[in-house]
Amino acid sequence: KRIIIAIDGHSSCGKSTMAKDLAKEIGYIYVDTGAMYRAVTLYSIQNKMWQGSALDEEALRCAMPNIKVGFKYYPEEGRSHTLLNGQDVEKEIRTMEVSGKVSPIATIPFVREAMVAQQQSFGLDKGIVMDGRDVGTTVFPNAELKIFVTADPKVRAQRRLDEIRAKGDSTTTFEEVLKNLNERDYIDSHREISPLRQAEDALVLDNSHMSIPEQKAWLIDRFNS
Ligand code: C5P
Repeated sequence: KRIIIAIDGHSSCGKSTMAKDLAKEIGYIYVDTGAMYRAVTLYSIQNKMWQGSALDEEALRCAMPNIKVGFKYYPEEGRSHTLLNGQDVEKEIRTMEVSGKVSPIATIPFVREAMVAQQQSFGLDKGIVMDGRDVGTTVFPNAELKIFVTADPKVRAQRRLDEIRAKGDSTTTFEEVLKNLNERDYIDSHREISPLRQAEDALVLDNSHMSIPEQKAWLIDRFNS
């Protein structure tokens, strides 16, 4: 029997690594919902909808029908890249600039409606692992397995910084990363529409002191039980 697995939690707590590993192991589709909000954010930046920290929301509303977010699977890498109107934007959506603007974009109801509808369509055939902030509460409130992941903010910031460094960026600092995580968590958990919340029936995992193989084993155990 194929099910829906919802993995939600705070920023940079390793949700996507866990979710991706699990999906590969059990032969499910993996969907990164954060990448979708990041792609919309990238579109708003590319189309000059920002004046400093102010977004021209009306311009974004008009553009929504023209923003097509998708995924393309690369078997040789064993993972998907995010597409924005057919262009591979996997790298561009991970910049600090996008990270700094994505949470305000994700508070906008018309953006969430469009993303959630698309996310729900991915789950029609079940056999899906989806990670994000509101998957177990809003996208799939009936998901058979829900996990809520968290970790110490400093541990999360250090993990994120290691990733950023590994990609060749040596200028971003620990403090910048920590500040961005805290800001996103604050906005994500205080917004009116589907805020970041632990679903009542979610299993909680604090992975501050767990290695990636330990997290993977924990998750596979939950799937099997
Ligand atoms: O998962 P990731 O950190 O890439 O997500 C980027 C941002 O997208 C989050 O900080 C949040 O503002 C937004 N998001 C959301 N709902 C989701 C997934 C992500 O609001 N389901």
